[in-house]
Amino acid sequence: MDFLSDPRFTGIKPFENRVWLSSPTMHGDEQKWVDDAIKTNWVSTVGENINEIEKQVAEFIGIPYTVALSAGTAALHLAVKLCGQKLYGQPEAGHGTLEGRKVFCSDLTFAATDNPVCYEGGKPVFIDTERETWNMDPKALERAFEIYPDVKLIAVAHLYGTPGKIDEIRAIADKHGALIVEDAAESFGSTYKGAQTGVFGDVGVISFNGNKIITGSSGGMILCKDRADAEKARKWSTQSREKAAWYQHTELGYNYRMSNIIAGVVRGQMPYINEHIKQKREIYYRYKEGLKDLPVSMNPFDVLSEPNYWLSCMLIDEDAMAKHERGDTSETWSTEPGKSSPGEILGALAAFGAEGRPIWKPMHMQPVYRSRPFVTKDGEEDVGADIFRRGLCLPSDNKMTKQQQDIVIDIIHRCFK
Ligand SMILES: *Cc1c(COP(=O)(O)O)cnc(C)c1O
Repeated sequence: MDFLSDPRFTGIKPFENRVWLSSPTMHGDEQKWVDDAIKTNWVSTVGENINEIEKQVAEFIGIPYTVALSAGTAALHLAVKLCGQKLYGQPEAGHGTLEGRKVFCSDLTFAATDNPVCYEGGKPVFIDTERETWNMDPKALERAFEIYPDVKLIAVAHLYGTPGKIDEIRAIADKHGALIVEDAAESFGSTYKGAQTGVFGDVGVISFNGNKIITGSSGGMILCKDRADAEKARKWSTQSREKAAWYQHTELGYNYRMSNIIAGVVRGQMPYINEHIKQKREIYYRYKEGLKDLPVSMNPFDVLSEPNYWLSCMLIDEDAMAKHERGDTSETWSTEPGKSSPGEILGALAAFGAEGRPIWKPMHMQPVYRSRPFVTKDGEEDVGADIFRRGLCLPSDNKMTKQQQDIVIDIIHRCFK
């Protein structure tokens, strides 16, 4: 399909500068703290930038203990391991803390939410999604506990910066004596009933990956309520060295600690998190207004929550879906008046130099997880697959100008012509 010569797009010129989905935004302070680390020779995994961001994030989120790590995925691994050990004790070397145990996992999410369960030998059971926030459905979770009453761990994410129904999930977990790993990688700065995401789980996680709301270029953090948990995570992240003159090990270790240089970038970003959220919020509402005459809706959120609006997403009404087909790695779609499809819209945006993205493909549809159980609220309707089929992530970069966003909105309109 050649969008540039398609008469529906006559008059639209490709963007001179690419419009990104969500790219890093540096402000200058990052350089200062990175330089500071280099000038003072604190460039390893110890230093003032690390201490400072651990303190600042703890205060910002309202959680007593934080440990800065090399990635959100590393933080999730240690979070899962902490919970696994609380539940089942310390395994022998060569075995995971969750070996053979089932764990309830968000289904519609980035694979990094759930993969760490498998790093620890656990067996994911994927829980379907609800339509009000596009996150784990408490009704499906209840049903999963009926089917698998012995499960003691839940890994749950807040998608695209929108808090899920985390207090309902907390109540269900408490009823069944289960622990929660809360993946707030995409939702740093979002609140639910006034509290920041990341504080609802037994252990929480945020990410400083390059496309998140603020970034260290990479990096992540584990959020803990108990000092002992934080100390354990810190010890594991630095190869599990015991207090001895030589390298003494009673536990497996990892090289997961954040460097003081990366921490300098995060330290420079921290003062701007609320500014980024404000910009993302404006982008969301401009889309909502600009797309209101089309047969589409924006990604919804709970009135009790305040998202960080990390990514603006839209969902095409069922009766406005043009014919389309998705295989494992390719797709086809057709052009129909008054209708469109995620493939067509993402293709048109890409042709003019704007980056969108499909919705996360649900884990139960991923070849790597195809044999794992999947639980829906009624054993029938697959909500996650439906959102994946009809939804897409719109260009949500906080540096996108109003003029650029107007063109993006115009292109989307023309896809329905
Ligand atoms: C980005 C992300 C992660 C992983 O964070 P990294 O810092 O990239 O390792 C985990 N979960 C979700 C939902 C994410 O979007």
